[in-house]
Amino acid sequence: MKQIVVLGAGVNGLCAAVQLAEHYYGVANVTLISEQVTPDTTGDGSAGLWGPYYCGKTSDHKIVKWSTATHVFFHQLWKNGLAARVGVSLQPCTRLTTDPQGYPDPVWKDIVFGCEKLSQSELDRLSYEHGRRYTGGYHFATFTCEPSGLLPYLFNRFVNVGGKFVRARVDNVENILENRKVDLIVNCTGLGSLNMLGDKEVLSIRGQVARVCAPWVFEIILDDSDDGNYVIPNSETVILGGTHQMNDFNRNINKDDSKFIFDGCERMLPSLRNATKVSEWVGLRPGRSTVRLELERYVIGEQTVPIIHNYGHGGCGVTLCWGCGSEVVELCQRLDLTKSTRSKL
Ligand SMILES: Cc1cc2nc3c(=O)[nH]c(=O)nc-3n(C[C@H](O)[C@H](O)[C@H](O)COP(=O)(O)OP(=O)(O)OC[C@H]3O[C@@H](n4cnc5c(N)ncnc54)[C@H](O)[C@@H]3O)c2cc1C
Repeated sequence: MKQIVVLGAGVNGLCAAVQLAEHYYGVANVTLISEQVTPDTTGDGSAGLWGPYYCGKTSDHKIVKWSTATHVFFHQLWKNGLAARVGVSLQPCTRLTTDPQGYPDPVWKDIVFGCEKLSQSELDRLSYEHGRRYTGGYHFATFTCEPSGLLPYLFNRFVNVGGKFVRARVDNVENILENRKVDLIVNCTGLGSLNMLGDKEVLSIRGQVARVCAPWVFEIILDDSDDGNYVIPNSETVILGGTHQMNDFNRNINKDDSKFIFDGCERMLPSLRNATKVSEWVGLRPGRSTVRLELERYVIGEQTVPIIHNYGHGGCGVTLCWGCGSEVVELCQRLDLTKSTRSKL
């Protein structure tokens, strides 16, 4: 049996681990090694909205490929009776901007359902209601897939197909190879790649959000402007956001950020003043100049080990997760693990 090690049990590590374990069932053992697991990964606090957001300069065709595959995956879960267990909901969504350039045709407009550009009169009405000057926007339907349901679902699916989990921190690639035969490493450590690989292109994009109880809210509203807020319903709570502070590693709740979030969201939806606050949370998005999803031949002494990197998903790791996991399998197929891996290098 070949030995595959997946590093990182966030949403990207789990999607890769599940698809590898299912694809190579009976051919390779897949071991997932991670310092943190759900409910302590970056995705756990996110609303799980499907929507490309803060993914650096990653090319449009990659974003479309990975996010389409994830949209289809969420749709299948939703249609096949797993919506409640995995936390998938199909919801109406309005995305707006105050950018003077307006909102050029987004790459995702044909992936979501029924996407329509807002007319000037709709923009005027929303601008008046929200106290903003919107210059463009779209209305459509899309999915939220709550990581608090998705991550345990993926973890169980991985274990049920024979995947093994080891809770450990890995300081460098050499660590993984100590006392272990490894044919392939898949690196999904997100922000952890900053220290583990010394990848200087990785940066933290700090995000503070709040959760409130507002069971009357059934619509996503996103103001994509730099100083914009967002309201995203989940099944039990509504997520109010949010900040995106570059290179900020502070995980503490900041009172000014809380005020920005509550004031901004209440301006968009005044009824939120009657909502009960449930919690506040800070997460560090694993930002990067571009998402890194590629095969590297890593040389350690006399040994060469293939590593597939899959990290740097910024503000849309949930949106891209299943598609990126599928591409990990595609890259892995090029190595032809059923034969001698190293002879292909
Ligand atoms: C406030 C906020 C809201 C968000 N909302 C959304 C949203 O609505 N939709 C969306 O698509 N995205 C959203 N995101 C972004 C999304 O949460 C992330 O892109 C995604 O969770 C990244 O997943 P990941 O698996 O790549 O990394 P992570 O979830 O960070 O997982 C990395 C894993 O690697 C492990 N690890 C790291 N280093 C090491 C090491 N050295 N040794 C062993 N293990 C290691 C960690 O313990 C962890 O398990 C949001 C993020 C934030 C902060």
